[in-house]
Formats: sequence, structure tokens, C-alpha cells
Amino acid sequence: MIDPIYNLDISHPPDINGHFGRFGGRFAAETLMGPLKELEEAFYEAWQDKKFHEERFHLLKNYVGRATPLYHAERLSKEVGGARIYLKREDLTHTGAHKINNTIGQGLLAHRMGKKRVIAETGAGQHGVATATVAAMFGMQCDVYMGREDTERQAPNVFRMKLLGANVIPVDSGSATLKDALNEAMRDWVASCESTFYIIGTVAGPHPYPLMVRQFHVIIGQEARAQCLAQTGKLPDVAIACVGGGSNAMGLLHPFRDDDVRLVAVEAAGHGLESGEHAASLAAGRAGILHGNLTYLLENDEGQIQGTHSISAGLDYPGVGPELAAMLEDGHLDLDTATDSEALEAFKTLTRSEGIIPALESSHALASGIRIAAGMNPDQIVLINLSGRGDKDMDTVFNLLRGEIEGDQA
Ligand SMILES: *Cc1c(COP(=O)(O)O)cnc(C)c1O
Repeated sequence: MIDPIYNLDISHPPDINGHFGRFGGRFAAETLMGPLKELEEAFYEAWQDKKFHEERFHLLKNYVGRATPLYHAERLSKEVGGARIYLKREDLTHTGAHKINNTIGQGLLAHRMGKKRVIAETGAGQHGVATATVAAMFGMQCDVYMGREDTERQAPNVFRMKLLGANVIPVDSGSATLKDALNEAMRDWVASCESTFYIIGTVAGPHPYPLMVRQFHVIIGQEARAQCLAQTGKLPDVAIACVGGGSNAMGLLHPFRDDDVRLVAVEAAGHGLESGEHAASLAAGRAGILHGNLTYLLENDEGQIQGTHSISAGLDYPGVGPELAAMLEDGHLDLDTATDSEALEAFKTLTRSEGIIPALESSHALASGIRIAAGMNPDQIVLINLSGRGDKDMDTVFNLLRGEIEGDQA
């Protein structure tokens, strides 16, 4: 039996062509319109099938390790001296981040559609690893496109994908990073859609992907909502998540859409918005077409997609999910940003105060959450999505903090 906290109704759907407000849609090659329609039908059909959900929830429980806890970070709250801070512990899932909720869902759908092969694109490698993981579990062939530069920067994740049996295809075109891998994956899918399922890693891409990925992640917010009510007797005052493409944010925030809860999305401000070296598409971008949908993105004056920067590789996406763009324009979303150094500070604060080492992505949500909580009172509740754990970031953090930590011990 599926617990009734997991509401399976699709609330706030896009229009029939996949538009959220003026954003979203389906901007793809003519040859992909058929496969996208087929995928949309298969998704709706599966979503209405109790069996599909039973299998999905079976895996989410026994393979992923859900429900993840909601943890009252008492020492952190005390240190901050404002609202009570609660953390949704997606860091405790199998593979250590929320991404697996989505790859389980799409993997199951691929399996159901009889596809023998899955493809994905990845920047930092985390979506590639989550895809390779479920491909291994379902026994499907898996090819992952990755910019050659990223394969060099993220060698341990490349090795992980290979260990899991995936084939990693380096992409040399353009700047040899994520946006080029996106194009290559689309190109592959145009030629192979008969046999192949394209697993997109965030709430982006052409319709129905933004809707589908959101639906596979709302489990985060549905659990957090029920857990918060059970533990505190009320809903949070504020809910906060970091945004790369926006999947963990939509997952946490969407179930609170119709509640009196302030929803905050936090983008990576890198070296600062004015430096131009950041990944803040909503805060500093403009509307345009990327990855098959109309959304906010970062482009230069010639209309070329701009290189992004963040201390956290997982937030380094030059666009954002179209539904977040629509929510921002409609006034349903508050926007915040955190710089590299603010995220690193929050990373240290949580580690020292609670014994939890967060992912650098999640540290952006923490930085904002700590700032917001500090201006509130102990009757109030701030809910922060801890989207992943920090093990994968040890190299980065080691290089940045080695001197300071060794200094502490002297
Ligand atoms: C990939 C990743 C993100 C960013 O992706 P979204 O689609 O914006 O959620 C955030 N946190 C972690 C731990 C990630 O791995």
C-alpha cells in the first residue's frame, strides 16, 4: 500500500503544450516530436497505473532508502539564534543525493516502454552516476555524454560510471562542457529513439520532461510536509532549496504551492553576480531557448550560451527549469543567491555544529537558510533541503580549506 501522504494527483500541470506561464514548451527537431508525444502518453498512462507506483515506491523504499528523515538541527538553530531549522535529509539516499528519485522513475518508465538502452548527458557526472546506477539495476545498456573538459575535471565520477557498466562518451564540440553534451545526447536520441530512452537529469528539456521530473521528485516535499506537521504540529514558515536546473527545488517546494509557506530558490552567485562568473540564470539571465524549452538562461550578447561558474559542479547549469521561471514571474517564488565563499562558510557551519557534511550544492541553500532564519524567531520554522552529501566534494574542499584546518590544529 502506498502511504496517502504521497498524493498522486498532478497539481498545477502545464498547459497541453507543456507551457508553465509563458515558459516551457517543446522546441525540438521535427523528428523528435513523435517520440516526445509517445513519451508523454507513456508517462500519463504509467502515472495512472497503480502497479507502476507500487513498483516505484517499492524501489524508493528498499533500494533508495526512503522516506528520508526530517531532522531538527537544534545546535545549528541555537548557533544561528533565530527560527528553528529543519533539514530534509536527501543526503541519506542511496548514491547520496536526490537525483536517484528521478532516475528510478524514468528508468522504470523506460523499462515499461520496452527500451533496452538509456542515454543521459552529465556535467559534473552526478546525473550520469545516478543514471548508470539504475541502468545497472534494470539491466539496460547505458551511454552517457559528457564534455571532454568535464571528463577530465570529474575523473572519479567517470570511473564510477564505468564501474557501473556505463559507456562514457566524451564530447569535443563547442566548449566541451555540459551544453555540448546536451546537444550530443539530443542528436543521439533523434537517431535512436526507437530503442532508446533519454533520461534527463533535471526539470528541464522539452515537454513532458519538466513535468515528469517534477512528479518524480515531489516525494521530497510531500514527506517533508507530513513530517513537519507530525513533529511540530504546523507547516514551515519558509522552505528553501538550491537551484541548478531546479529538480530538488521543485521537489521540495511544489507540495507547498497552495500553502501559506514562503518558497525560496537559491542560485549560485559564484564569485559574485557582478563578476559575471556565476550560475544564476534567474537572477542574472534572460529568456531564451535552451535544451528544448523557453526559460531563463545565461547567454552573451551574441546569443551564445555563456560559460558558468560555481564552487559546486552540480549548480553549474546555464539555464533553469521553466516552471521555476514561471513561478518567479507569477510571484510564487522568492529568489536568493549565495556566493562560493558564503556556501563554503555554511558548509563549515553545518559540519561543525551538527556532524553532517553537506554537498556544496546544498550548502548554497544552507547559506540562504541561515541568513533568513537569523532574522526570524524560535516560534518559526525554516525548512532546508539538504539535497546531497559532501563526500564527492572532499577534493575541492581539501584544496580550499587544508591550510585553515591544519592551522586549527596547531
Ligand atoms: C545535481 C545536484 C543539484 C542541482 O540540481 P537540481 O536539478 O537543481 O536539483 C543540487 N544538489 C545536489 C546534491 C546535486 O547533486
